[in-house]
Amino acid sequence: MSRSPKPHETVLKGIPAAPGIAIGPAFLFTKDHLTVHPREITAEEVPVELERFKEALEQTRKDILKTRTLAMKQTGDIVARIFDSHLLITEDAMLIDETLERLPKEKVSADFLVYDFMLRTYRSLKAQQGEYFSQRADDVRDVARRIISKLQGLKEDYLFDLEEPVVVVAPDLSPSDIIHFDRRNVLGIATNLGGATSHTAILTRSLEVPAVTGLRNVSDLICNGQSIVVNGNSGKVVLFPTPVHLREYRTKQKRFFDFWVRLKGIRDLPTETSDGRVVKLMANIGLPMEAEAVKTHGGEGIGLFRTEYLFLTRGNMPSEADQVEEYKRVVETVHPHPVVLRTFDLGGDKLMPGWNFPKENNPFLGWRAIRVCLDVQDLLRAQFSAILQASYQRDVRILLPLISDINEVRSAKKILEEVKLDLERRNLPFDHDIKLGIMVEVPSVVLMADEFARECDFFSIGTNDLVQYTLAVDRGNENVAQLYSAYHPAILRMLRTTIDSGHRAGIPVAICGELAGDPLATLMLVGLGVDELSVSPVVLPEIKKIIRSVDFATARQVAEHVYEYITAKDVEKYLLRTMKKHFADLPVWFKRG
Ligand code: PEP
Ligand code: MG
Repeated sequence: MSRSPKPHETVLKGIPAAPGIAIGPAFLFTKDHLTVHPREITAEEVPVELERFKEALEQTRKDILKTRTLAMKQTGDIVARIFDSHLLITEDAMLIDETLERLPKEKVSADFLVYDFMLRTYRSLKAQQGEYFSQRADDVRDVARRIISKLQGLKEDYLFDLEEPVVVVAPDLSPSDIIHFDRRNVLGIATNLGGATSHTAILTRSLEVPAVTGLRNVSDLICNGQSIVVNGNSGKVVLFPTPVHLREYRTKQKRFFDFWVRLKGIRDLPTETSDGRVVKLMANIGLPMEAEAVKTHGGEGIGLFRTEYLFLTRGNMPSEADQVEEYKRVVETVHPHPVVLRTFDLGGDKLMPGWNFPKENNPFLGWRAIRVCLDVQDLLRAQFSAILQASYQRDVRILLPLISDINEVRSAKKILEEVKLDLERRNLPFDHDIKLGIMVEVPSVVLMADEFARECDFFSIGTNDLVQYTLAVDRGNENVAQLYSAYHPAILRMLRTTIDSGHRAGIPVAICGELAGDPLATLMLVGLGVDELSVSPVVLPEIKKIIRSVDFATARQVAEHVYEYITAKDVEKYLLRTMKKHFADLPVWFKRG
């Protein structure tokens, strides 16, 4: 008897978007391609077509508002704001004015004009660099799809009625698709497109659905009902797993699930070693909507709020009033915990379209961050003013990026004092004792850490840049990626110097670079005496668990022993051995394989 041939196991590598492991039958979710032709209309039909367009816009707005309400129930207000950007597109003057003007002139149907607008906007946004523009392009496409569907009298196809638990596989998913999921039956998500910080990824994390994005062609390789494993921890997706691998994945899934449940149990407990040494565990965010996840994952505040999104999301200078509103929203979300707002870290790889950044041979060594802010002082004044206004009766702190010279700190402090006087004149309340700290991410600051510590209220070590500037290794260059390591003994010595200098001067020292969120480094960092760690929201529980499981003496031993090694590889090997010894039951290795 011949058996039907089984497809071979296929492993794909994508971007881990939301943690967890999902195993189940695939459900292919593809939206019908919209067919849009330039349909000619007569002069008499023009008023009717214009009305139909306005009506479709109105109905789309109502739909988006309903989706927003649904999102609000599932994820909270800040994440639901994803849909505010969709609402704004329905009010886009270009879309509306252009359609109202072209329709009577060209006498073509409204659906074609909306499609034409979408295509041009989509292409020009996608052509710009950076995740933000790509995200905006996706938003424009989603909203245009909705308007066109309304004009063509089509129903939106959402995943309301899944009858059994499935892993959803799709070319792409919009935030509305995800919000309309029947969550009981969506085990996991795998998509061709998308990155780690797309709206889709943020939503899956917030809903705790394991997800992998950026798989390129997963939706072409699998059919409905075929077996699939989605590992949202590592970014691996396995199609048609062999029975042996399936069993292994079920074990991993169970371990992860148990681990996750235990982590949730410690969410609201303080971050301290078993003998009571407190380490503040905070989170890094780059968009206000991530503040919700900080709360749900047990973060004790925001240790690094990257504010560049304000520029990158609008392509012009954000007004002071806009900034006050944005900052206050985040501050209120995490209150009574602190929010450390970093002033604009523009330049380098974060260029702003429409702004004349000079062409530089070495942009990372060029006009960026505090250097830009001290040259274009209106920028810094408006941001200081907004931060100060958000600080009234709240724990808000200011952080200056890329400091390399003591005069930069002094100049920034002088401007801050002038802005305070201005606010007093305007009768606007603020925290008069607001704390001002600096990023320690340039070696000159480490070498003069004692002097810098006398000039500011706290240090925050940015290992991402500190590594690139100390080891002369571009952090984004794949050709030299093997040389880029925060475990390089030179970096470890810099950490020790900075922490010791900070403490000698009586100021707290935080670490907010990626190293802070690597479980492999936790024992060592605690042992070095760091006061605060600021990490990506998803790793908060894992880091808290590690800190709560050891005593300070053990951490100190690790921190001392680590200096015996003189290569990054040996440091990592030693830390891995130590972690295995102390945490046999911790699946920290998930990230490493
Ligand atoms: C760093 O350099 O470590 C840091 C946290 O800042 P960014 O990654 O935004 O440069
Ligand atoms: Mg940096």
